[in-house]
Amino acid sequence: MELYLYNTLTRKKEVFKPINPPFVGIYTCGPTVYNYAHIGNLRTYIFEDILKRVLIYNGYKVKHVMNITDVGHLTSDADEGEDKIELEAKRERKNAWQIARFYEEAFKQDIKKLNILEPDIWCRATDHIEDFIALIKILEEKGYTYRISDGIYFDTSKFPDYGRLAGQNLEEILPGARVEVNPEKKNPWDFALWKFSPKDVKRQMEWDSPWGIGFPGWHIECSAMSTKYLGQPFDIHCGGVDHIPIHHTNEIAQSEAAYEKPMANFWLHGEFLVLGEKRMGKSEGNFITLSVLEEKGYNPLAYRYFCFSAHYRSPLKFTWFAIDSSQRALNRLYENIRRYPKRDVEFHKEYEERFHSAINDDLDMPQAISIVWELIRDNSVSPEVKRSTLIQFDKVLGLSLDNPPEIRIEIPDEIWELVEERERARREKNWEKADRIREEIKSKGYIIEDTPQGPRIKKLINI
Ligand code: AMP
Ligand code: ZN
Repeated sequence: MELYLYNTLTRKKEVFKPINPPFVGIYTCGPTVYNYAHIGNLRTYIFEDILKRVLIYNGYKVKHVMNITDVGHLTSDADEGEDKIELEAKRERKNAWQIARFYEEAFKQDIKKLNILEPDIWCRATDHIEDFIALIKILEEKGYTYRISDGIYFDTSKFPDYGRLAGQNLEEILPGARVEVNPEKKNPWDFALWKFSPKDVKRQMEWDSPWGIGFPGWHIECSAMSTKYLGQPFDIHCGGVDHIPIHHTNEIAQSEAAYEKPMANFWLHGEFLVLGEKRMGKSEGNFITLSVLEEKGYNPLAYRYFCFSAHYRSPLKFTWFAIDSSQRALNRLYENIRRYPKRDVEFHKEYEERFHSAINDDLDMPQAISIVWELIRDNSVSPEVKRSTLIQFDKVLGLSLDNPPEIRIEIPDEIWELVEERERARREKNWEKADRIREEIKSKGYIIEDTPQGPRIKKLINI
């Protein structure tokens, strides 16, 4: 079955053909480790995980590389401001290395909880400084660089195809319209390849280079590390849509100027998770982490399930109501699969084909999920076949259907208060009041079972 993917580079859904089948190389831009990932970031990693699982489902052997940005990402995308990691180190009174390693570990924990398959290669920017310097040297020899007081920059006017990925006028992708552009730059969209350490401040992360002591620009790491581990061109490069106009545009300029061939054949971008009217963002200050969801009693996999409610190329609005519905839907899915007998039977061919064509249509997860529910409701399919088909689907869904986790249901305070009030009524032998409260509790979605040890509360699940 053909696999169609939407390629940002051509603005079309295209049939995916790997360079060297059955192998597929994917590079996904990883986290900047100066804080916890928020669930918006995690939406992008879930989309990339689905892509990878769909490739594997189609029989490809995937080599997945993800970088860890542990230096060089400045507070402004226009190469100005402070290094995000050094800034956080100051705030937390730790050193930059501790900050980077701490949040890298936290990120790895988050993706594990979301059943995101680990990359085959993790690569930290700080472990590859030599590779960055080598790449900048090539660009220098080819005449693409110039020096100004704070660093070595890429001259975008020398690269005629600059901005192709974004498909916009250069004016429209002016880096950071809100930021003053460094007047020493030859062109406003030129970007730093190597930045010098400030004269008056000692940086914690800095290295010697042919141009002076400093640190790499943010974009050079992905160009150097993707080529190192996947070659050039490689098959697929992904990230969030915010990377199209600056980060990925600059990666393409560096890699293609240096090696005179395309960087990657397919570019896939995930849309934003939105909170209120704005994109969820660390710099926007409106973000929720996975641990906040967990503290509120949601299973991380309910968030994964929630992400399937929109196509990856559509914005997705986060609301507590929506995550609640996802948790309930997931619980129902688990309740169903637990009831199906485990037998060694073939999956249902027709449903599998429909599921396969949904995921092969540019990863249409909303469609895939609707097929899941259609199968569950279909009385003409035996429970054991339902189970084996769902287990087959789970290779892509990644919802632990083979071994569903026990769902810990948090009982809200409001319900506890009603339960206590009912206990009081019972002690006073006011049975009428006790029954009324029981009904009220039921109308809020919980039932009480009276046991010799006292009342037990269960959440009503509509199966
Ligand atoms: P960062 O750690 O800031 O480099 O971001 C990591 C990834 O998350 C990048 O691929 C971003 O494009 C993506 N991202 C950032 N904000 C959001 C959001 N609100 N929704 C979805 N993805 C996002
Ligand atoms: Zn990148």
